[in-house]
Amino acid sequence: MSALLQDPPYLENEQNRSPSQSPTETVETLLPKPHVAAGLPSGYSGIAEHSTPAHTFLEHSTSILFPVLFIPNVYFSFDRLYELELLWLAALAIPLAFILGDFVGGLVHWMADTYFSEDTPVVGAALIKPFRQHHIFPRDICTHTLVSIVGNVCILAVPVLLACLYLLWVSDHGLLAFAILCTTLMAAATVATNIFHKWAHQENNSLGVRLLQRTRLVLEPRHHQVHHTEPFQMHYCITNGWLNPLLNKIGFFRKLEACLRLFGIETTTDHRLKV
Ligand SMILES: [Zn+2]
Ligand SMILES: [Zn+2]
Repeated sequence: MSALLQDPPYLENEQNRSPSQSPTETVETLLPKPHVAAGLPSGYSGIAEHSTPAHTFLEHSTSILFPVLFIPNVYFSFDRLYELELLWLAALAIPLAFILGDFVGGLVHWMADTYFSEDTPVVGAALIKPFRQHHIFPRDICTHTLVSIVGNVCILAVPVLLACLYLLWVSDHGLLAFAILCTTLMAAATVATNIFHKWAHQENNSLGVRLLQRTRLVLEPRHHQVHHTEPFQMHYCITNGWLNPLLNKIGFFRKLEACLRLFGIETTTDHRLKV
């Protein structure tokens, strides 16, 4: 795990940057002029986004349902592993879920940054637009409510947790209980991802949050700043960022883009502007 936590060489450059060379300057230079002229603090658009009533209902209802389903999934899968004397698997599930959550979140983030457009049906407004707007106005996320930052992920996670609970009901297989515990904890990590992402952009975090960031249990701000710095093509993982050094080293996302290009699927983003 320590190898995964090591910063890549270009991050050292980020850390050695003088205060006058703040990495956010790179983002600020790309801000549309009207917002700069309006005298708003850098990184904020000043625009309030509104979901449709149906989407707002889904965000709120699934944000309530998520913990309601999360607790019995964890309880019954733990209980099953305990009965089968496989409790050691539960200890393995926790770090595995954090790594898988970081990977799944990174994959979705890369996809939203790289493919489709804000006008794409279904995913355009709900998924692509928030990610791409975030590169122009990175601090808007600090003004968003809890439901607006976790709601979209809860909409996807709730059906998964429902299916897990059903499988726990119909099967008493130990490995299935382990898989369900991993899936449930991974779903929680992905739901929490945008909270960790918000903290990475937020000033004056509490001592507890800063401790979590310093120990790299959640996304560390300077580590995430690499994503907001040219060439804007790295550090897509934003749960805790553990996988970023490894994925950068093996060129994972560039290779994935090359594979998709073989099938005629081209990227839709100018990586310099990210819009
Ligand atoms: Zn991004
Ligand atoms: Zn960000």
